[in-house]
Amino acid sequence: MRLGARKYRLTTFTDLGLSEPILRALEAQGYKNPTPIQAKVVPAMMAERDVLGTAQTGTGKTAAFTLPIIHRLIGKGRPEPKTCRALILAPTRELAAQIEENVRAYAANTRLSSAVVVGGVKAGPQERRLARGVDILIATPGRLEDHLRNRVLTLGAVEVAVLDEADQMLDLGFIPAIRRLFRQLPADRQTALLSATMPPEIRKLAADFLAEPEEIAVAPVSRPVEAIDQSVRHMDAGAKRDALAGIVSGSDVERAIVFTRTKRGADRVSKNLETAGCASVAIHGNKSQNQRQRALDAFRDGSAKVLVATDIAARGIDISGISHVVNYELPNVPEAYVHRIGRTARAGRSGVAVTLCAPDELKLLRDIERLIGRRLAAENAPASTPESAAPAPADKRSRPRRRKPAASSNPQHRRSAPADRPRTGPRRTKTSTSRHASTTAPQQTI
Ligand code: AMP
Repeated sequence: MRLGARKYRLTTFTDLGLSEPILRALEAQGYKNPTPIQAKVVPAMMAERDVLGTAQTGTGKTAAFTLPIIHRLIGKGRPEPKTCRALILAPTRELAAQIEENVRAYAANTRLSSAVVVGGVKAGPQERRLARGVDILIATPGRLEDHLRNRVLTLGAVEVAVLDEADQMLDLGFIPAIRRLFRQLPADRQTALLSATMPPEIRKLAADFLAEPEEIAVAPVSRPVEAIDQSVRHMDAGAKRDALAGIVSGSDVERAIVFTRTKRGADRVSKNLETAGCASVAIHGNKSQNQRQRALDAFRDGSAKVLVATDIAARGIDISGISHVVNYELPNVPEAYVHRIGRTARAGRSGVAVTLCAPDELKLLRDIERLIGRRLAAENAPASTPESAAPAPADKRSRPRRRKPAASSNPQHRRSAPADRPRTGPRRTKTSTSRHASTTAPQQTI
């Protein structure tokens, strides 16, 4: 062994103590070293500690919690019918499907079974699958509750529970369902909660359902990945169509995600790109699960170079090789900008994020710049500078300041249809959204 290698011994997967079938699977994935979140979460979970983790997608957090689960369950014999041993809760169907894909890859050399339970598809096949029992179940909350009500599944055999993207669960009004689900879990289970941000409601949830968790944080959400080349182009709304066609036809564009604020906008932009001769697909909450999956498959296999998406539809989606993110419209919530651009520059690669900014979006741009603590490089000056948009942020604070949510029936605060069913629980309203609501932000109907 070389000296240098000895010096960094603790950063290899082998030294984390993961079992051999997992190490082989990681090698097959081409992973050489654990990412920072993995180096911290894997040992904590292997020591059977509860974990409260702050990490965005793109940090390797999925492997951070799935590897110790697989390690723990290997060689335990088959699960009883209608039970699962590990339960992973995810806010969206896409994220649930993606987590299962990862579980399958990491557990490829084991006999462990996995299944996904999400809304938007028929319940029958899921019921038949659950009847046999499953080692690792990945679920969205609404459909999982349906199955529990119908006694297709019980949670009494769960050894490990994971709540992924907890802050998005909060945005979607899923927290009451999460609390109901957690109350059905055995008291002596292990629990991990992962969230990109840690608002008070999530801290409270953790305090209620985690036992002396180890707190682990990497890459706070208000600091976008340094590897992303971020810029803004100022233009009238009417000029965006041609500008976008120009950007995505660039020879440096491997795969691009284009973000719009609304579902209708996503369809329109995708159609315009097709007209301009660029193969593209759109995903948003109005599409059926099958349509969304087909679109993602086309994007993954390269038959569509561009994916046009609304914020919620794209959240958590992990597709490698996304070279460009284009903000066709600015998000009403500045934090969404960080999530959007995080689709590129994943797993150590570089990426480009271009924001197309119309004059009536300048205030939204300034809010984003305030959040990330710096100005975006502008390729040209804004045509006009409305008073509301004028002062640039000298403010370097690292976290956005949050205000108590305004009591809100304002449709601009609604972000998306949840994964399974119409929202029933309380919903968080971000400060910045309410600040924008009556000023510059166009209606948001994602
Ligand atoms: P996640 O944050 O879980 O969405 O993961 C982001 C991306 O990083 C995924 O494409 C993973 O396959 C990849 N990834 C996870 N762990 C590692 C690792 N240790 N080395 C390289 N890539 C990784």
